[in-house]
Amino acid sequence: MVKILLLGLSGDSGCQVAALGLHDKLVKILTANELVYAPTLIDAKEIPEKIDVAIIEGGLRTEHEIEVIKKIRSNSSIMIAIGSCACFGGIPGLANLKEGKILLNKIYVEQKGTALGQLPLVDKLLPEQVPIHNSVKVDYTIPGCPPEVGDIANTLVSLLSGNQPPINMTDVCEKCPRERVGTYANKLIRIHEDVSDPQRCLLEQGFLCMGPATMGGCGAPCPSAGMPCDGCRGPTIQNSDQGLTMLDALTSLISQVKDGFDLSQNVGVLYRYTYPDSNLVKLFKGGEKNE
Ligand code: SF4
Ligand code: SF4
Repeated sequence: MVKILLLGLSGDSGCQVAALGLHDKLVKILTANELVYAPTLIDAKEIPEKIDVAIIEGGLRTEHEIEVIKKIRSNSSIMIAIGSCACFGGIPGLANLKEGKILLNKIYVEQKGTALGQLPLVDKLLPEQVPIHNSVKVDYTIPGCPPEVGDIANTLVSLLSGNQPPINMTDVCEKCPRERVGTYANKLIRIHEDVSDPQRCLLEQGFLCMGPATMGGCGAPCPSAGMPCDGCRGPTIQNSDQGLTMLDALTSLISQVKDGFDLSQNVGVLYRYTYPDSNLVKLFKGGEKNE
């Protein structure tokens, strides 16, 4: 019987809820194994000494969370990061564009609707939101926002039966049904600004679709439904920096956009889920932050 720990850091729990989509498979996993610690599901106060598989959701934002993750790591045989916050820092990682103190003040003091205008009592904040692999070794990742149920099932079922989980080598474009003809629009379009050709590749029409830079395996549901992929599954196996890969894919489009392409206006598109994990950002670390 495998001892499983399930923990959401930074108050996260959505990716754990995504696991409910496993339906009867989840029941089988939970009855054949032992859930030893899972604050969202069971009342267990202490982190157990012996854990076979630790499944961690959410990124690291406080010093206390680093202490917790280190303790779990030293007590666990296998650690899995689930969801893009745990894997790459996720959308909360875009907060790294600003100083933590400035953010806290803006949210809790300067907002007119904030009661009393006082900062909340919080554990000591880290200077930035970071993925868990910044502090501990991670053995497997299940990216996505939220992660695909099929990925959760494949990883857990493989590991619990002593096998290696499959590795996805594709990008989102590989399963996208939209037609690519190799020519690009001469302007960038936001999804609310124009009606897209329902058959044609969104990137070729000028929409910033992150498909070429994003790990496949989801079946491309967003571009299939008319929305550009926003990159929730993080980088492909072949290219570790999602934003840089996308800039490379955008070369043909940008060269035709007459009004230019402002990188600073598109950080939240290129690195929506992976800003804290970006090689480009690490290169410029120490630079000035926005106020
Ligand atoms: S860029 Fe987007 S729309 Fe075009 S093929 Fe890739 S996933 Fe589909
Ligand atoms: S198409 Fe892109 S945004 Fe949509 S689920 Fe797949 S990776 Fe995530």
